Amino acid sequence: MVTELSDRALAARQARITRVRRRMEQRGVDALLLSHGADLPWLTGYRAMPLERLTMLVLRQAGESVLVVPSLEAPRVAGADDLFTLLPWTDDQDPIDLVASILGRKDRTGGAGRTGATGEGTIRCAVSDRAWAATVLGLQRQLAAAEWIEASAITSSIRAVKDEAELAALQMAGAAADRVAAKLQGGEIGLVGRTEADVSGQIAALLIEEGHQQVNFAIVGSGPNAASPHHEPGGRVIVAGETVVCDFGGSFSLDGDVGYCSDITRTLMTGPPSSQIEQCYQVLLSAQQAAVSSARAGVSAEHVDQVARSIILDAGFGDLFIHRTGHGIGIEEHEDPYLVAGNSEPLEPGHAFSVEPGIYWPDRFGMRLEDIVVIGSDGSPQPLNSADHGLVVVDA
Ligand code: ZN
Ligand code: ZN
Ligand code: ZN
Repeated sequence: MVTELSDRALAARQARITRVRRRMEQRGVDALLLSHGADLPWLTGYRAMPLERLTMLVLRQAGESVLVVPSLEAPRVAGADDLFTLLPWTDDQDPIDLVASILGRKDRTGGAGRTGATGEGTIRCAVSDRAWAATVLGLQRQLAAAEWIEASAITSSIRAVKDEAELAALQMAGAAADRVAAKLQGGEIGLVGRTEADVSGQIAALLIEEGHQQVNFAIVGSGPNAASPHHEPGGRVIVAGETVVCDFGGSFSLDGDVGYCSDITRTLMTGPPSSQIEQCYQVLLSAQQAAVSSARAGVSAEHVDQVARSIILDAGFGDLFIHRTGHGIGIEEHEDPYLVAGNSEPLEPGHAFSVEPGIYWPDRFGMRLEDIVVIGSDGSPQPLNSADHGLVVVDA
């Protein structure tokens, strides 16, 4: 909700809009059309409810921006006049018509849109990657001559570089998640004899208690379930002598601003580890730490993946590391930059991402170790999580 926006938050959003407009100009995009997804709250502080009624920010490369919003949601948008004009629509209106007519006005007053490469009278629109298909298809019918690209082509590389306010929120989120991890590792959250779902619920409650406004997920995978990276915590009762992968995160907002995400994984043992589990964990730990150290400005995102993967491969567990090494994080849990083979984009100061290799033995056990890392202004990796990186034994 956008109320009482601080001057600092407002200035940050205006700076983002300026950068976005510059990118639109470079890419020949006339209008950025933002509906569901993180781009809208990133630029305006307002998050559209993922319902059928259309919310759409029409941000033109030149000219005023208009937020088309269901009239019943309009009270939640109060106080952002400096960023855009509010255009509420009622249930008896067609919001697609409204958006099309805003874009059409540009054609009449602005000299028939772009000329040159895209042709006389053609406008080029970038639309939210997460907009409903019905919205995009409706707009395409109304604006038959327009060209369409994904909004992420404009926004994602800008959004990936966090500003000061965003870094502060990510830091607070990371510290709060660390405190929950420390409770797990300190044995304050009982494991043996409880179901995964029960433990997951307690982790979720603690994320809120430690300052998150929202819980995004709390994975608890025990024994053979730990071999499934995104295991849905269920009715399995945790027993002694097994690995328990706990991967959890929420959204943390500073000064009433949009929430920024935490995401941490620690693997616990309910009793002394077997020598095989111990050996695997040492490989995992060195892979994760080498990958974190390698994550410096100028290094490609895929290089960090390669560093973690080669250590696990050399130890003979290459086939058991079944996912990419990491993902960017911000307003969304998963966003650019992705640490994955094929992403040759260089890391930059302000990038924030997870480093989370894992080793998963099907039907037996699994382990993962995850920290969020920010590239500092000096180009060095700065982990936001410092909870014990070892294979901590609890309930022994
Ligand atoms: Zn994941
Ligand atoms: Zn995670
Ligand atoms: Zn993650």
